[in-house]
Amino acid sequence: MKLQDVPSAKIKMSEVRIQIKACGLNNKDLFISKGVYFRTMSPPLTLGSDIAGIVVEIGQEVTNFKIGDRVVVSPIIGCGDCEQCLREEENKCNRYESALGGLAEEFVISQNQLLKIPDNFDYADAAALPIAYLTAWNMLYNKAKVTKKDTVLFWGGTSGVGTAGILLFNQYQNTIAIAGSEEKVEKLKSLGVKHVINYKNEDVYERVMALTKDEGVDVIFDPVGKAAWSKNLDLLKNNGRHVNCARSSGAEATIDLGKLFAKQIAIYGAKSGTKKDLQNVMDHLKRIHKKPIIDKTFFFKQAKDALHYLENERQLGKVVVINESK
Ligand SMILES: [Zn+2]
Repeated sequence: MKLQDVPSAKIKMSEVRIQIKACGLNNKDLFISKGVYFRTMSPPLTLGSDIAGIVVEIGQEVTNFKIGDRVVVSPIIGCGDCEQCLREEENKCNRYESALGGLAEEFVISQNQLLKIPDNFDYADAAALPIAYLTAWNMLYNKAKVTKKDTVLFWGGTSGVGTAGILLFNQYQNTIAIAGSEEKVEKLKSLGVKHVINYKNEDVYERVMALTKDEGVDVIFDPVGKAAWSKNLDLLKNNGRHVNCARSSGAEATIDLGKLFAKQIAIYGAKSGTKKDLQNVMDHLKRIHKKPIIDKTFFFKQAKDALHYLENERQLGKVVVINESK
């Protein structure tokens, strides 16, 4: 990974040039840099999908934005004409592209991918949102359709998507979070989560059953993969929902189909979210008077350090790179 000068991209009629002010990092950036991302990406490329900045130039056909607007990029770029895209569900498009290139001074993108940043968020807040908060929103509200009465078991609670889920659910009495160290347990408690289980030295099943009076939970929020599948069907109530969005602890899991149908359990996969979801996330956070949880910000020239920090998995929430160059 290196810093270099590249020519400025030309803008098309319906495109906008953004001076990037902040870029949130995700595991996706780590996976791409290591060549293990699930889609093949050929270098050279510029990392960073969670992009927030200020509009500095607009194409002739741009009507929704003007120079000086503070904007955030919705990261999934659908093909625009398939059944899913016409339904504004671009995260289900077979031909989607990802916005990529946030670790730079500027970014050119169609006006259709942009949303205005609400006044209550700064650029770092906005750049913390896209992938993690969209994914968490999709998992909780589009797939599991959680209500205030539900109890949700959060695996990977301190990760970007885990903290996003806990914050968006906003029902700390009904939240059980799982972490892998005492340091992380304490961090989650500091967020207001009442019940935190350290899976390294506690029996998750026994603790969950004790906390739920032997009933189990309504929803399992799973951004980790294999580790969350041990006893998942026993941990869920009848009609429970398991939602997965990643596979960092392993991609293969076994399942007891007898329990699946007898308990009428639903299993969902969730991938990122739509521009509509991003607006919903911002509106929801405003309604509950919350801001995204940012663990640490780095300056642009420290972007490599920021990726290493993310790789060490000690953060609580998002890691954001701030572009201070202009
Ligand atoms: Zn499409």
